[in-house]
Amino acid sequence: KQTSPCQSEFYQAVEEVLESLTPVLDSNDRYQKQAIIQRMIEPERQIIFRVPWVDDKGDIQVNKGYRIEFNSALGPYKGGLRFHPSVNASIIKFLGFEQIFKNALTGLPIGGGKGGANFDPKGRSDGEIMRFCQSFMTELYRHIGPTTDVPAGDIGVGAREIGYMFGQYKRLTGRYEGVLTGKSLLWGGSLARKEATGYGAVYFAQYILEDRNDTLKGKSCLVSGAGNVAIYAIEKLYQLGAVPVSCSDSRGTIFHETGIDLKLLKDLKEVCRTSLENYINTHPSAQYIPVSDYPKDGHAVWRFKANAAFPCATQNELTEKDAQALISNGCMLVCEGANMPSTQAAVDAFIAANIAFGPGKAANAGGVATSQLEMAQNASMQNWTFKKVDEKLKVIMKNIFDAANDTAKEYGQSGNLVVGANIAGFKRVAEAMIEQGIV
Ligand code: NDP
Repeated sequence: KQTSPCQSEFYQAVEEVLESLTPVLDSNDRYQKQAIIQRMIEPERQIIFRVPWVDDKGDIQVNKGYRIEFNSALGPYKGGLRFHPSVNASIIKFLGFEQIFKNALTGLPIGGGKGGANFDPKGRSDGEIMRFCQSFMTELYRHIGPTTDVPAGDIGVGAREIGYMFGQYKRLTGRYEGVLTGKSLLWGGSLARKEATGYGAVYFAQYILEDRNDTLKGKSCLVSGAGNVAIYAIEKLYQLGAVPVSCSDSRGTIFHETGIDLKLLKDLKEVCRTSLENYINTHPSAQYIPVSDYPKDGHAVWRFKANAAFPCATQNELTEKDAQALISNGCMLVCEGANMPSTQAAVDAFIAANIAFGPGKAANAGGVATSQLEMAQNASMQNWTFKKVDEKLKVIMKNIFDAANDTAKEYGQSGNLVVGANIAGFKRVAEAMIEQGIV
């Protein structure tokens, strides 16, 4: 156990997984003899690089870029790129570590990796974004490839940024190949990739409820975030008859009791790229809570009463106090669209209260799974229909739920999908590592 204050997010993610693995490690000394844990928590390769670029005023800016190639036992490294000022080695390592197990759970041939930069895209012009992306790829291109490492989007990286990076990769290498996923539909992207993480998280919630003889129909749902994952979780919740009543961004939270206006939300975030504050100009009856008015010990969004909660913004955005508020308000399901959005104490509170809980590494795996479907389409030079991709996504999410649920039962922790997902993902990677020798 590490106690150093640095890399706290990485240690948090590792501790959560290791605690779940105790019964497997205790009952199987092969993993200890093979030093599987020691090997698994050390990335195969960490690349940290300078990203110099010129802003619109002609001033030189310098950011720090990362690509952590964590584990390739199951396939090429796969995982997104995050552009956010909070990015550091701890954040990228926690995301890369989680990605190993998530990718294993999909059952697809993909290893785990993650990357990004401490670049803040907010307020930057289109030209500045392009120059940053080009500089970032000018270093990254030598480390990636369609059969080695295939990055995708994450916070701050959508189709626009993927486009600029792909353009630069092509210019540097002279190759037109599936080296990135989350591409535009015009040139190699997959239908339903944009929707996949949000849709997948809601499918996962549906499978959890089905197992408890319940459905999402008529349930009020708190959603945090207002980006790619949150928007398409909200869209799927509506399609399945639920009522999403909130969303949030880095400046505040909207609560709209009769249901979030999805068209307006898309317009504000996907088209205008503006703050959620503007939502109440159209809907004065909705509430807007700025970050300055959030409770000191948590997030305003989790203090409203609802049947279910979908954290879809960022890590550690749901605290123990938030969990207690949700539980005492009668929330019966929490399904994580974001990566590690609930603190460990919050997760413990949900499990202790027997709340149906879908951990991120299982519930949000639909995004990376559909990225792998994009790779398959690129490699075979095909374009599948939206329906075909969505059907495959549903099957993958059901398989992930079954794997986590069955494994939890097998280890005597029925219903605990945290333990089930961690053990199921771990075993697949560990067995592949053993078969491939000490590398
Ligand atoms: P986006 O950049 O599209 O959206 C992120 C949203 O969260 C924005 O509304 C943003 O606010 C808000 N946000 C980001 N950081 C913070 C913060 N520190 N405090 C408060 N709000 C914040 O990212 P995605 O929707 O793609 O990603 C959301 C989460 O889902 C992340 O944890 C990501 O790792 C995870 N994920 C994403 C996948 C994908 O396919 N995109 C796949 C699997 C997991 P603002 O609008 O003000 O910037």
